[in-house]
Amino acid sequence: MATGSFNPFHMAQKQFDRAADVLKLDQGTRELLRNPLREYHFSIPVRMDDGSVKVFKGFRVQHNDARGPSKGGIRFHPQETVDTVKALSMWMTWKCAVVDIPLGGAKGGVICDPHNLSMREQEQICRGWVRQLSRDVGPNTDVPAPDVMTSAQHMLWMLDEYETIYREHKPGLITGKPVGMGGSLGRTEATGYGVIYTLREALKELGLIPEKTTASVQGFGNVSQYAIELYNLIGGKVVCVSCWDQTDQTSYSFVKKDGIDLAELRGITDRFGGIDKDKARDKGYDVLDGGEWLKQEVDVLMPCALENQISADTVVDIPKSVKVIAEGANGPTTPEADDILKERGIFVIPDFLANAGGVTCSYFEQVQSNMNYFWEKDEVLGKLDLKMTAAFQAVVDLAKKRDLFMRDAAYLIAINRVAQSCKDRGWV
Ligand code: NAD
Repeated sequence: MATGSFNPFHMAQKQFDRAADVLKLDQGTRELLRNPLREYHFSIPVRMDDGSVKVFKGFRVQHNDARGPSKGGIRFHPQETVDTVKALSMWMTWKCAVVDIPLGGAKGGVICDPHNLSMREQEQICRGWVRQLSRDVGPNTDVPAPDVMTSAQHMLWMLDEYETIYREHKPGLITGKPVGMGGSLGRTEATGYGVIYTLREALKELGLIPEKTTASVQGFGNVSQYAIELYNLIGGKVVCVSCWDQTDQTSYSFVKKDGIDLAELRGITDRFGGIDKDKARDKGYDVLDGGEWLKQEVDVLMPCALENQISADTVVDIPKSVKVIAEGANGPTTPEADDILKERGIFVIPDFLANAGGVTCSYFEQVQSNMNYFWEKDEVLGKLDLKMTAAFQAVVDLAKKRDLFMRDAAYLIAINRVAQSCKDRGWV
């Protein structure tokens, strides 16, 4: 969802170029990795409930599959653009590489607003998306998953369409399936919990005790809610969350200085992560402008909504108290803002490391689906914690050894792994 003149793909390329310079990548490898391998654009005609036909625009971008089948979510959003999808597909490649799972990177999207679509119309979009791509995705080719405004139900419709076309069971096509239909326990929690596994390690690095820290979170959807759940469990206190208000077409921040009550807020939140502001006021929350989440005097900021939120314009709003930024969302910080965070010595856990819990658990889902043997939730989350902690440690070790910003260290590890696979395959 590119906003204004901001182009997330240019940002992703800029981040890549910086790391490629440090790694002294050769020209061929650079050209290969700074663009996607394949890009699909297609139309999805849907018979609407009122009898008319509406044509939706769909995308799938496969950035790189040298390390394994490409992997990445599908977003439904009215402002979706192919450049956002391209950027996200590239970040998926680095994300899978940094946590060292045998998958590449992809991303998909449909320009649509599920708020204004019936479930039947959404089902038709899902089935149409698969019909357009049935030869180009698959368990050993490219494996989609849920993302912004798509759910386990959407994934199951997509799987059903795929299996209908191929007339056999192929649960490895897609992840994020409902539990009991090939889904993994722990997947719902995985991204948010993963953010906190890495935050917990970052706090240790900085000598901070979780119980003595406070946080402010942008977004109140899947990633945010589970990040808050685990952060509370390790003793942290969240004083502010923000969300998008569909009716007013703007965002709001909800502040409670003595700590938000997660269960209470969940009870007044719709399935898109929108909090009812009148009910929130009744429950004692201050309802402020959407940008206020960034200005809170907290130790930790967790952007868990959208890209391009911490920019050259907004980075100045971050108070001195902030020591850590754990990026739950993809691409929330622009390179210009990064330079300022670096100067200020703020410890950033970069998006493709912090939010890699989702794809790591998706990988576990594939493994379980292939074995047709499903693990208990504790086992899934235990394995996730090990993987995230090991990935964080590798990045922080390199950052310390070479005096690098965390994002740069994570890029060096990820890009180096992918470049090496491309080389080993003889592509470059
Ligand atoms: P979601 O749709 O469940 O929730 C999004 C939240 O962001 C909602 O609360 C919404 O109201 C809020 N929001 C939207 N626009 C906003 C704005 N302008 N200001 C403040 N809040 C706003 O989505 P999610 O699954 O939680 O994903 C959030 C981010 O995390 C995205 O960048 C996504 O790509 C990334 N991510 C998600 C996963 C996953 O497993 N769900 C994995 C990796 C990365």
